[in-house]
Amino acid sequence: MKIFILLVSVLSVYCGISSSPKIKNPSPQISGSVSPTELQNGLYAILLGKSFYPNRLTNSDKEEGESEIAFLFYLIKLEKRYILIDTGTSSISTPEITVHNWISPDKILGSAGIKPGMIGEIILTHFHLDHSGGIGLFPNAKIYVTPEDWNSLKKTNQYASLRLLAKERSGKVQFVNSSLEVFQNFRILLTRGHTQGSIAIEWLASPGKKFLITGDECYWVEFCKQGQGLSSEGTFSLSNNKEFLDYVSVVSSSGTKILTMHDPAVLSLGEEIFPRIYKLD
Ligand SMILES: [Zn+2]
Repeated sequence: MKIFILLVSVLSVYCGISSSPKIKNPSPQISGSVSPTELQNGLYAILLGKSFYPNRLTNSDKEEGESEIAFLFYLIKLEKRYILIDTGTSSISTPEITVHNWISPDKILGSAGIKPGMIGEIILTHFHLDHSGGIGLFPNAKIYVTPEDWNSLKKTNQYASLRLLAKERSGKVQFVNSSLEVFQNFRILLTRGHTQGSIAIEWLASPGKKFLITGDECYWVEFCKQGQGLSSEGTFSLSNNKEFLDYVSVVSSSGTKILTMHDPAVLSLGEEIFPRIYKLD
């Protein structure tokens, strides 16, 4: 997703501005809270909202027109360890794009009893603000990110840059320079196709249950499985993107579940156990 269209989200996170997104339909009410112990260990997809996006910027087989996309991020819960893969964004409302039915990521997680301070780790698939705009909501989290995309994020605006620098100086940014095993059977893969420092996540959650979270290297799961990547307009490196998509098609044919950040079809793989929170395994 282009950076300029989402700049407002980081401004609101770091400036503490309470902006009111354009919500076309009333959102489901999120109220009260439950004990986090009610949330089982596992992988969850979180739905921030939906919008429309040009097909030519995705791995669609259509060049023209737009399709409805979801704005997703993922939560992994392992006992007391809460890991986010991307954060979603704290708000979106610009002339270029509006997330319909948007709810702030911290509020969605709150409905399952997860307070912002409980998020200990955030893995950023890339710096674009629909993926990284919510990091300021989670003050205790260590952030895994490539140095290239961290620098790109800092360039988004000066105020955010100072806050991000403070995060970096506090030792809460772990730079990813090569593929990295965060914990057993859970790996960050450098992909470097969509952006200069984009990454993907591969997790063997249990025997026979493997997930590949692609970031924005591809959008539509069915086309990802066929190895269909982005156009040059949607990539930093077309060849890196293609190389990764070849990998996606190979592992999907041997049973790995492919999960993207924008395909609403991901939600049909799971069950909505709290509003906007879908259990996937
Ligand atoms: Zn995106």
